[in-house]
Amino acid sequence: MSLEQASVLIIDDCLEDREAYRRYLLQDDRYTYRIWEEEYGEQGLSACDRLNPDVILLDFLLPDIDGLEFLSALKQQGKKGKLPVIMLTGQGNEAIAVRAMKSGAQDYLVKGDTTPESLRLAVHHIIEMAQLLRQLEQSEEQFRLVTDALPVLIAYVDAQQHYRLTNLAHEDWFGRRRSDINGCSIQEVLSGEAYQQICSYIETVLAGQSVTYETEMPHQDGSKRWVSTTYVPHFDGAGGVKGFFALSSDISDRKAIERMKDELIAVVSHELRTPLTSIHGSLKLLAAGQLGQLSPEGQQMLRIADENTDRLVRLVNDILDLQRLESDRVKPDKRRCNAAELVVRAVESLQGMARQHNITLVSNAASIPVRADADNIVQALANLLSNAIKFSPAGSTVEITVSPCQAVDEVGSDRAQQFCQRRLGVLFQVKDRGRGIPADKLEKIFERFGQVDASDSRQKGGTGLGLAICQTIVRQHGGEIWVESTLGEGSTFCFTLPEFDLDFGEGGDIA
Ligand code: ADP
Repeated sequence: MSLEQASVLIIDDCLEDREAYRRYLLQDDRYTYRIWEEEYGEQGLSACDRLNPDVILLDFLLPDIDGLEFLSALKQQGKKGKLPVIMLTGQGNEAIAVRAMKSGAQDYLVKGDTTPESLRLAVHHIIEMAQLLRQLEQSEEQFRLVTDALPVLIAYVDAQQHYRLTNLAHEDWFGRRRSDINGCSIQEVLSGEAYQQICSYIETVLAGQSVTYETEMPHQDGSKRWVSTTYVPHFDGAGGVKGFFALSSDISDRKAIERMKDELIAVVSHELRTPLTSIHGSLKLLAAGQLGQLSPEGQQMLRIADENTDRLVRLVNDILDLQRLESDRVKPDKRRCNAAELVVRAVESLQGMARQHNITLVSNAASIPVRADADNIVQALANLLSNAIKFSPAGSTVEITVSPCQAVDEVGSDRAQQFCQRRLGVLFQVKDRGRGIPADKLEKIFERFGQVDASDSRQKGGTGLGLAICQTIVRQHGGEIWVESTLGEGSTFCFTLPEFDLDFGEGGDIA
């Protein structure tokens, strides 16, 4: 078996000692050595520079310089980290050995006590440490190569919210060298406003939950770009969170296309509204018999035409509502309001529909101050109530409750507790005893035109946009919306709103 090669430079003015070390090394059965010898420190230093040996056996007391001077000169040659030096000290000189170790030597041996084994062991240790370091550097290099080649922001952030590792994309994005970014807090790197917007996501990941969100982030060129970011927690052995991995990709192009598409839909819907209103009005006149009596078949056709125009008008209005809510131009007008009063308004607006379907509306709402755009929240509640009425069997009850998030242990499910934890807020719940929603549709129904059954809109007269509107409204208020359901037993739609906070004052907006 061929042995691995290593090189050793012995720097010692004592010929006998040099020969002894050479002999010990040549008897090694792990490595074959290339051995060089020097008597003086200065010559030793230039040999180190020239030959770059794997291990340096260094006598502390040399005729020209001492071991500590040698170590500091070696560092000036540009050697980083631990030096591959075994310091050979005289007996009783352990204190010097300790100073040598602190100055960068990796090991020391006391001259009189050095045996062939102890010398070889110390040499092996240095060679193996260097090999490990090389492997580590290689794998780090590979990791860096991969992460730097990707056009996404990849970072590791510690529990104190300081960047520890960042890939090259950070330099392009922030216009700062990554050596400047690493060690800085997220708040220092992003602007105050951008940081405020992502604070809650950082809290979530540091509490141990992965999270994905979309937000605008300032770019070094002065623009703001849309990014989709995912945070994944990094747990320590005891279940605590040591930090998190952050991955952000630029989705500005996708957002621009979405905006164009939405604007197109809005323009078309807007253009449809006027002729539709006129058609609707004419049909109503016809139905009222003001333009002459129609045959029974004619009346039947008219009824179908009227119902469908009704649906179209609702659809166009919902599309325009969603567009208005999502546009940057119209911000919700958040003020202090009483949660119970919002419920009263929503219930009043749906009483007629409930009577028509023979449904009893029961409300139990606590008077809690919330920061909300009252009209928007009433609209969201009315959407949830009208769905609950539509999907409930005649003769049943729809309940609407409002309770403080702190009381959620008594009133809410596991999911509600998960959303309400760490938050001061209010939980709204609309509960029906209808057909329920299958588990695989619980998220989907909040998407635009997301339905449990493709025929739902037609049969129940919906547009498929009501829940998307609710979700947009609730999120704009910093809340969460979700549904819990058991098939055949009913559904409970829940959403949270932050509690009114005196610090924010009356009007204005929270980021
Ligand atoms: P729609 O106008 O069609 O009701 P929504 O966005 O309000 O649109 O609701 C989307 C779909 O979610 C509905 O078509 C229905 O399939 C389902 N859904 C909503 N609310 C309920 C409910 N309370 N019970 C059962 N299914 C519901």
